[in-house]
Amino acid sequence: MHTIEASEKYLMKTYGRQPLAAASGTGCVCKDEDGKQYIDFGSGIGTNSLGYCNAAWADAVCAQARKIQHTSNYYYTDVQAVFAEKLCELTGYTRMFLGNSGAEANECAIKLARKYSFDRYGEGRGTIITLKNSFHGRTMMTLTATGQDVFHNYFFPFPTGFAYAAANDLDDLKSKLDGTVCAVMIELVQGEGGVCALDYAYVQALAKLCQEQDILLIADEVQTGVGRTGTFLASEQFGIHPNVTTLAKGLGGGLPIGCCLADEKCADVMGPSSHGSTFGGNPVVCAGANAVLDQVTADGFLTEVQEKAAYIREAVSQCSDVAEVTGLGLMIGIRLKTKNAHDILVQAREQGLLVLTAKENVRLLPPLTITKEELDQGLKILMPLLES
Ligand SMILES: *Cc1c(COP(=O)(O)O)cnc(C)c1O
Repeated sequence: MHTIEASEKYLMKTYGRQPLAAASGTGCVCKDEDGKQYIDFGSGIGTNSLGYCNAAWADAVCAQARKIQHTSNYYYTDVQAVFAEKLCELTGYTRMFLGNSGAEANECAIKLARKYSFDRYGEGRGTIITLKNSFHGRTMMTLTATGQDVFHNYFFPFPTGFAYAAANDLDDLKSKLDGTVCAVMIELVQGEGGVCALDYAYVQALAKLCQEQDILLIADEVQTGVGRTGTFLASEQFGIHPNVTTLAKGLGGGLPIGCCLADEKCADVMGPSSHGSTFGGNPVVCAGANAVLDQVTADGFLTEVQEKAAYIREAVSQCSDVAEVTGLGLMIGIRLKTKNAHDILVQAREQGLLVLTAKENVRLLPPLTITKEELDQGLKILMPLLES
């Protein structure tokens, strides 16, 4: 098949790909070049939050592409303004910076935290604490922020100024507060790390500690945000409002966007020439993101997400090889007793279901708009694979 052969020949081999050439899609269903259909329980990787080619989203994107596709950020566009206002009003944040990916959103958060501290305290307070087993992106800075040794390889020298604390261990975190720390960055549910939610009490205590010491709390909600966990932000379920929240994956409905939200305390840290992005906040992307926000915030939408999450969790937890179902809402980790998650991924694909893995777990991130019928169709393939 030309698609796979040419891709293997001309693209750097940075991904362990499955032999599937995606050609088209609607709803939760993707079709490959041979016309074979797959129920997608992965939404890309949590990106196609409204499924494939959602009608209102596609209309908004196409209309914007025909109106004005891009302009420099030295000018203004209405869709960018509408998007920014909508998202700030919705989340209680004061200002945002727009980039093109999760890594870029986190890169902005890291720069902001260091400058916030520099402006107030001067040099020597630039350390960011992240958690072990975290994932924050693939740029040099966000790779260093990622708290997993396997990522800290080959590309030396890495940037400095990061320390790593064990998740859910407040004493370990306290022991790292040596006066050089400007921020703590966390994923409320560690996604790539295996779909592990942090403890409520730990998050509460951490937020309090940060506030007392004027250390910024950054929530990397690149994967957990935009309704994925059943609330618009996962932080709502932990009873906190971090100083900075980053969003990406599901926000654009499949188009590249990254967003760094800052609260009133740090909203004005990044002034003229401190940061920028050529494509960040692109009008076509913002038009798609506006369609995502409109649907996710519609009456009853998130309640349905919660109901669908409960349904799927209940179903898979019945299966005999399932040790534990982890995560929050429609961010679902399935820890297995004996089976291998990658084998299940391959078998599921062969039978017409796409799932993800995270470490040794099966991971599901179905479209937020998935219907009950699509859920049942997918579960019919998945559940037998989860029996030992
Ligand atoms: C995917 C992810 C990122 C990186 O996002 P990119 O868009 O691939 O740069 C960062 N943080 C978390 C929590 C993620 O899940």
